[in-house]
Order: sequence, then structure tokens, then C-alpha cells
Amino acid sequence: MTRAKPLVLAAVLAQLAGCQSSAPLAVRAVAVAAGVTPAASAAPVNAVSFAEWLQQFRAQALAQGIAPATVERALSGLRPNPKVLELDGRQPEFVKPVWEYLDNAVSQARVSQGRRLLLQHQELLRRVAAHFRADPEVLVAIWAMESNYGQSLGGFDVIEALATLGWQGRRQAYGQEQLLAALRILERDDIGRARLRGSWAGAMGQTQFIPTTFLQYAVDFDGDGRRDLWNSLPDVFASTAHYLAQSGWQPGRPWGFEVQVPPGFDWALSDPELRLSLSEWRQRGLRRADGTPLAAGDERAELILPAGHQGPAFLVLDNFRAILRYNNAQSYALAVAQLSEHYRGRGGIVTAWPTWQRPLSRAERLELQQRLDGQGYGLGQADGILGPRTRAAIRQYQRAQGLPADGYASAELLQRLRTVPGRG
Ligand code: CA
Repeated sequence: MTRAKPLVLAAVLAQLAGCQSSAPLAVRAVAVAAGVTPAASAAPVNAVSFAEWLQQFRAQALAQGIAPATVERALSGLRPNPKVLELDGRQPEFVKPVWEYLDNAVSQARVSQGRRLLLQHQELLRRVAAHFRADPEVLVAIWAMESNYGQSLGGFDVIEALATLGWQGRRQAYGQEQLLAALRILERDDIGRARLRGSWAGAMGQTQFIPTTFLQYAVDFDGDGRRDLWNSLPDVFASTAHYLAQSGWQPGRPWGFEVQVPPGFDWALSDPELRLSLSEWRQRGLRRADGTPLAAGDERAELILPAGHQGPAFLVLDNFRAILRYNNAQSYALAVAQLSEHYRGRGGIVTAWPTWQRPLSRAERLELQQRLDGQGYGLGQADGILGPRTRAAIRQYQRAQGLPADGYASAELLQRLRTVPGRG
């Protein structure tokens, strides 16, 4: 889900996603839980009753210029939805390994269906892609990831869900901001009140835009005067293309590619902050996964290791970053990239994933952070979220221990932290 203005929602989304960095809601797909545990820290409890809160919100909406009739139509008879609060309070116990996530996201059935849909809608997709400078395959890949080609739109009443989040729980500011935006969508008559449905966190339609993203990026491409991301494929594809274009997508350019690294490679170069030109990567001995030389060039790329140095390595380019702006999760962007290649009859990852590795549980992730902090790697409060700060601390520890400094949190690493004192 998604489509937040990425920076605005970063904090909220990071919580949902279980990612320390600015991770949009869509990461929920990555963080699909094998099991869930209650939130580590209790959500702030709002002592105000829902009715009182709603009263205050109505006044705020009117003060923001929403018409009284819209406010009435949207909010009358509204009650909180306990299911939304329950989902808001959950945190994943295990984060699915990236290879399992990709197996599911890039299944053969999904690829075949995507190819059929590309053919079926080729004329429309070509028009949209030309208008917004996108590529049809990436639009269809995002459509697959967001709503399974329009089949999974979410069954929650978005107004009810957002009002519940705005009143209570960990995302009150988010809920209020999005609810206000949802009222503006109703006011513009893009969609009727009863049809304003989506995920529990307010992602809507076949693009799974949250309301503020909808207001900013949704497009009426079929010209009926409404931006209908639930029922109109021209609007769905155009809105996706518009958002992607605004995120910097360059048509006809690759997202990146899988690479091989030379023996003795310094794994610390797999740092998302480090962007070298393709020529520089080539000088460092990187080759394409099939062993052919890397083409020289000025375009900047970063090296990513989604499963650490024992798994596949990828050099990713600006278009990968554009997908990340759509949804800031590496595995999501990889899935979109792989799907779009498979549609073209390419794709596939050559290097085997380290499937013998097991994911760390939440308790183990917390322990890993506490042990790093206790040994002088300055993490501060452990939160169980393996984001950039944790990865940087792991790299420092790995360097001090003479290990490959890939920043990857494995069970092996935790075992070593338990038994080998660091620089502490
Ligand atoms: Ca329309």
C-alpha cells in the first residue's frame, strides 16, 4: 500500500512496515507475519471517547473548508472498527526471507497472467506509457504487486478505518491527515461514499493509494471527470504512471542487474549510501551475473545484497530508486523489477539464495541490537527493526571481527555476538 508522499509518511509507514528507514505501508507485504506478537511498546491511549473525538474532528474538517454536507455524508453514524485497532497493534514475529517473498510475488502463474493482461490492454498501456513516459511492463508489475491485478482491493470502509486510526492507536496523526484527505476525495465526487473502500490503513483501489497520494497523483485518464482507481483501468494505469514519472522513472532504461563480485571483494561497498559509476564498479571487478563484463558508463549504481554476501548481488540504477519511492522496500522493488523482466521473457536470478539461513525472531532481533549496543556499537534503544543504523553497527562489528562486512543480520552473527566479545 502506499503511495504516500514518501517523506511525509515515512515515520508512520516505518512502523507498519517494520523497517527503520522510511518504509511505506506496502512493506506490509514483506513483513507478512509467520506469527504476530503484540506491539512492544503500548500505543498511546486516547482517553477521549470516539464520539468526542469525532466532534472535534468535524470542527477541524469544517475549519479546513470541507463543506458541511460532505462532512455529514462521510461521518454520520460512524463507529470505530476494533479490527483496525487490532491490526494496527500487531508486529510481525518473523519477517519473511526475501526469497520466499519473491517466490510468492513473482510466481509463474502471476507472470503468465501479467503477460495475458499486457496483451489484452496493450493499446491502452501504450497510450498511458507514451503520455507519462513510463514502460507498460513496469505499470503492470506494480499493478500485480499492489492489488494482484485489481483482484485485491481491501474490504474496509476507508472513512471508518481512518477515523479509528485517527482516534486511537499508534498512528493518530496519520489517521487524521488521511481522513481529511479522504473527505476531499468525496467532496470532489471522485467516488461515492459507499464505494470508498480499501485496506485497514486506508490504501485504496487498484493502485492502493492512500488518500493524500490519491489527491496528489491520481489521474482521470478516461475523461469522465472522476478519478476512479477502483473501476477504471485507464485511470489506474495513468495514476501509477504519473506517480512513477514523478518519482524519476526513465522509460526504456534498466532498473539494474544481477552481478558477480571478484574474489576478496570488500563487502562494505554494498552500502546504500555509496553510489559509484558503472565504470568504477567495473574497475572494482564486478561482472554481469552471466560472467560477461559490465558495460562502462557514468550512470551511478549501488550494490545491494538482499540476503547478505552469501546470496545474489545486484547493481541498481536510478529506475530502481524510482520504484523505491513508490514503496521503499528493497524486496518490493526487486519483485517489480523481476516481474517486468519476466513479462519480456527475461529475468530470473542466477545466484542461489542462502535458503539454509533462518530469519531471526523479534526477540532475537532485539537481542542482536542489545548485544551490539552493549559491545560499544552505539545503537541505543533496541526496537527489533533492522534498518540502516543496525546495518551500520553490524558492519562495524564485522570489520572489527575480520568478517565479510555486509551488514546482514544472520543467526550466525547473533551466535557470534553471544560468544565473542567485541571491542566493548
Ligand atoms: Ca475517470
